[in-house]
Amino acid sequence: MHEFTVVRSLLEQVDRIVAEQGGGDIEEIRIRCGDFSGVEPNLVAEAFELLRVGSRWQETRLRVEVEPLIARCESCGTTFEPDRFRFRCPACGAPTVREVSGDRVILESITLRTADRPPQQESH
Ligand SMILES: [Zn+2]
Repeated sequence: MHEFTVVRSLLEQVDRIVAEQGGGDIEEIRIRCGDFSGVEPNLVAEAFELLRVGSRWQETRLRVEVEPLIARCESCGTTFEPDRFRFRCPACGAPTVREVSGDRVILESITLRTADRPPQQESH
């Protein structure tokens, strides 16, 4: 499954960033999964569920947001959501458009668990 590779490389990326910041326990990871990235958000979530069991990611949550594909016309600058296989500017008809988002998986944020969080209180 392709998504395992995606999740593993994301976790490596997270590791690097957290290590640079001085380390810590990771509570939540948020990613944006492009509609056109070739990666299935559900499968990413599943892959993470399988990878984290018994690992140090056991307590980490992964949130996956789906990001639509957005393209920008290189002639007139219009941004639009293109049809999957027909990249043509709806404003001027130019075929030279560039994908600006939605074509990759992006690490959005990392939340670290804070050690000094007060214990959860039960309300009565
Ligand atoms: Zn255009």
